Amino acid sequence: MKFGTKVIHAGIEPDPSSGAIMTPIFQTSTYVQDAPGKHKGYEYARTQNPTRSALEKNLAALENGTDAICFGSGLAAMDAVLKLLEPGDEIVSTNDLYGGSYRLMTKIYGKFGIKSHFVGMDSIKDLEKAINENTKLIWIETPTNPMLNIVDIRKICKLAQDKGIMTCVDNTFASPYLQNPLDMGADIVLHSATKYLGGHSDVVHGAVIVKSSELAEELRFIQNAAGGVPGPQDCFLILRGIKTLHLRVQRSCDNAKKVAKFLQSHPKVDNVYYPGLKTHPNHKIAKKQMKDFGGMVSFDIVGGNLRDANKVLKGTTLFSLAESLGGVESLIGHPASMTHASIPKKDRLKIGLTDSLIRLSVGVEDVDDLIQDLEEALRNI
Ligand SMILES: *Cc1c(COP(=O)(O)O)cnc(C)c1O
Repeated sequence: MKFGTKVIHAGIEPDPSSGAIMTPIFQTSTYVQDAPGKHKGYEYARTQNPTRSALEKNLAALENGTDAICFGSGLAAMDAVLKLLEPGDEIVSTNDLYGGSYRLMTKIYGKFGIKSHFVGMDSIKDLEKAINENTKLIWIETPTNPMLNIVDIRKICKLAQDKGIMTCVDNTFASPYLQNPLDMGADIVLHSATKYLGGHSDVVHGAVIVKSSELAEELRFIQNAAGGVPGPQDCFLILRGIKTLHLRVQRSCDNAKKVAKFLQSHPKVDNVYYPGLKTHPNHKIAKKQMKDFGGMVSFDIVGGNLRDANKVLKGTTLFSLAESLGGVESLIGHPASMTHASIPKKDRLKIGLTDSLIRLSVGVEDVDDLIQDLEEALRNI
């Protein structure tokens, strides 16, 4: 089955009791048993739920995995992955990653004796320097957030495999439509389904997908033991969102490309960070491992001051000022004060995340209107 068919059909069966073509929302906490221990595969809804099972089958197919395990949020999914580790274990991660992921690694797991290192993964030398005999997990995010660097998934997974280290790729920014890390050697793929998978800014949800049934079993044990599960209504909304994933993401990519080109030619815009631009330092890797370049664009204002950036941030009408990304509507954000405020300023500046950096999540609107909106906002400077 090809991708555009999988999003609609993989793991989805008409409801056997009624023929309903849409997966029902099984809003139940428990299931009636015929006799003690004799049941239909469902005992208690923390452990299993049919709406969730349908979504998990669908997600496993989209990422070419064997199993998917769903959670109440992207960070709950990440929390389950980190629970595979033990005190004394170490993580090596990208130095430019989602602020909440950084916070979970440093502020929560740091406390339990799990140390995290953050390196620029375009340098294999820096990566190798951060690895030692305690390293148990390499955490990759690509495209990175908010600088939109591209990490070479194949290269790093190969290195990790040679050293017997587990790899997890946060695939939220690309979505399974643009890249499938399990095919490139990763052990685990993570999604904040809140973003492109849901796609309509109406639900918070997370998932991990794996290709080993042993790893799936461990993660299911953690899912059930720690309990960060999603409700059935949320699973339904993600299933519904996924049905148009390929259409939405492709349109976002097409729009983002045009927005990036517009920004690049604008006299008040300094750097434009978009992997689809030939000038982007990782353009070649992006072209190799992604189907297209995604819907996220970051840029800096000439002169780099916060006052000018604020004028743009407050000046758009179609781009709404908000955290998050990946919905049908376009958003504009200020990473230094919003998504990445939990990262110390000196660490932010090291990676080019200035106080005037602006991040766009380009939606699926008519691109001419989006460009006009940005043009008018930039005129406020
Ligand atoms: C949003 C996001 C997360 C966290 O997901 P939640 O669903 O908000 O918990 C993790 N990684 C990336 C790249 C994200 O954008």
